[in-house]
Amino acid sequence: MDKKVKAIVTRAVPYRDSDMVLTLVSLEEGRLTASARGCLKPRAKLRYAAEPMNFGEYMLAGKGDRYIVTDCVQYDSFSPVTADIDNFYSACMILELLSKLSPEPQPELFLAAVRELKALAYEGKDGYASACDFMLAALKEGGIGLDFSVCADCGAVLDGDAVFSESGGIVCAHCATWDGIKVDALTRAYIAGEDRTLPEGIKLRAKRLLADILYRTLGVRPDGSYFKERE
Ligand SMILES: [Zn+2]
Repeated sequence: MDKKVKAIVTRAVPYRDSDMVLTLVSLEEGRLTASARGCLKPRAKLRYAAEPMNFGEYMLAGKGDRYIVTDCVQYDSFSPVTADIDNFYSACMILELLSKLSPEPQPELFLAAVRELKALAYEGKDGYASACDFMLAALKEGGIGLDFSVCADCGAVLDGDAVFSESGGIVCAHCATWDGIKVDALTRAYIAGEDRTLPEGIKLRAKRLLADILYRTLGVRPDGSYFKERE
């Protein structure tokens, strides 16, 4: 049985002499494994279809746990993303999280990933902002919608430090529970989108905090290498 899916390559591993094994996340069916045969040979027609970050309509043959890519119509490669190392790392983190969260189809999250990759590649969006916005979308899709602007308990507008708790969401210092994670005022303002021009250290803190919340609530954690400070 052949099938057509709109999918993005989240991982590509060489296999045998000239094949690649792809992890695809599709809009329709979530995560799939497919091999792209012969794509490492010189002048291989489907080479681009086996590149990480390629987004296209994939024609797949076979069934079960591994498909074979028979054709691909490319929508976008998001190639300008690779020009900036921070943007590239953020894109990789987004793809890794999308893959981990998509054993079942996650159409909204899939579209959020495409939106962030487009913004990184063509709209000059900052890598940290994209990573944060994608993690907020992932939390929302996982049933953990967080508002970093207003206390989830008393409704006060947040303008200082806040606290995240698994039971209460983002709350003000007065409503905080003992087991919460502290969110300092600048990190909170960054995540809420009130100020996206803060220094790099705060952006990194925001990204780490959201990754931590994602792990506590949905049990999924991006690779630690995306959180190292780079010189
Ligand atoms: Zn409160």
